[in-house]
Amino acid sequence: MFDKILIANRGEIALRVIRAAREMGIKTVAVHSTADSDAMHVRMADESVCIGPPPSPQSYLSVPAIISACEITGAQAIHPGYGFLSENAEFVQIVEDHDITFIGPTAEHIRVMGDKITAKDTMKALGVPCVPGSDGGVPDLETAKKIGEEFGYPVIIKATAGGGGRGMKVAMNADEMESAFMTARAEGKAAFGNDEVYIEKYLTTPRHIEIQVFGDGKGKAVHLGERDCSLQRRHQKVFEEAPGPSISPEERAKIGKVCADAVAKINYIGAGTIEFLYENGEFYFIEMNTRLQVEHPVTEGIFGVDLVREQILVAAGEPMSFGQDDLVINGHAIEVRINAEKLPNFSPCPGRISAFHAPGGLGVRMDSALYDGYSIPPYYDSLIAKLIVHGRDRAEALARLDRALGELIVDGIDTTVPLFHALLQEPEIHNGDYNIHWLEHWLAANMAQ
Ligand code: ADP
Repeated sequence: MFDKILIANRGEIALRVIRAAREMGIKTVAVHSTADSDAMHVRMADESVCIGPPPSPQSYLSVPAIISACEITGAQAIHPGYGFLSENAEFVQIVEDHDITFIGPTAEHIRVMGDKITAKDTMKALGVPCVPGSDGGVPDLETAKKIGEEFGYPVIIKATAGGGGRGMKVAMNADEMESAFMTARAEGKAAFGNDEVYIEKYLTTPRHIEIQVFGDGKGKAVHLGERDCSLQRRHQKVFEEAPGPSISPEERAKIGKVCADAVAKINYIGAGTIEFLYENGEFYFIEMNTRLQVEHPVTEGIFGVDLVREQILVAAGEPMSFGQDDLVINGHAIEVRINAEKLPNFSPCPGRISAFHAPGGLGVRMDSALYDGYSIPPYYDSLIAKLIVHGRDRAEALARLDRALGELIVDGIDTTVPLFHALLQEPEIHNGDYNIHWLEHWLAANMAQ
């Protein structure tokens, strides 16, 4: 087992990794930009190294700075968290070349899944059901129009290098194809340096259901059921739960096995998430994330396992601590993402926290790096806290969420907490009756943006 690991991240996810490491008796190294000298992850780690100025490309994304920090401190492994360098195959290669262990999948798996066309082809070949669409990249507008006719509108044009909801455009009909095609291409080029796009049938009322998988890198893999992340704003998740209210135990076992078998076949190592759209009882693969997800705590809640601990175990070459038969669902868990944003426009709202109080009690988990007097810097993601609740069933989890949100105090800045108070008044939320568009429609009707 490692003696010391470095966490190439900040905020709540850095704390999450430090906590798992500490329970395993592993020392931790935090890295930080000059804007984060007072950040909680720096205070909580055993050691810290300043790796550059505030802009991420010069600090949290600076590969030489992070490798140097490892060498200076003697850290044997790097946990990347999510975002930043977590899905950067080149980074993983450099880490391995320096005889440092990357706590995550291989560079090759990241590369394959990072290109959406290759990922889809790979999954199709492994027997995973996919959204009908173009066979690979679509070279020009004329071909795009032909595909639109063939599959029938609406269709979605996606940048193969896309991510975070960027580089995707819907064409409702042939007239919209030209602008959607050109925009998706331009966005792919501008944001990811790659203008290749592909086309999929646009599903009109799907839910977003994702399967958590975990592999040991030696041909053994399990699934940890699904998370329903259908409540999204601009393709970004805001509320996630497990198990999914629309998924039966039989469906879970079936799609779960397909996913676990697929990743076992490629000797996948560590945590991964296979994302699907789910409509009329059918699953359609959209992408695989080769890292720990923001919403992993809801899965931990219902299975009572520590996914970060497990990531560290398999990265050190040790066996996984559970098999498929050990994984039994207990109750229901919900996570809400609390952002430093001002409603109704969700405009970023960094600033000083004048008072902070985290909720507690049975079944409440707060993953956050906030503290009284902390100043949220303006340079990074606006996610400041994840509130996760667990109950014996969905109704209890929702009641607990309501109660915990009522206890939470974050003074000095605006947050998205009022959104969740309002959502908890809606019958559809209580009935679990929504698809990926529900929240956008609700926002349009209830919050003049
Ligand atoms: P990203 O990598 O940017 O997150 P995804 O491919 O995971 O992109 O898609 C993000 C979201 O976009 C999905 O959760 C869903 O809301 C929507 N989406 C993607 N593909 C389709 C599709 N074929 N039909 C309908 N909605 C889609």
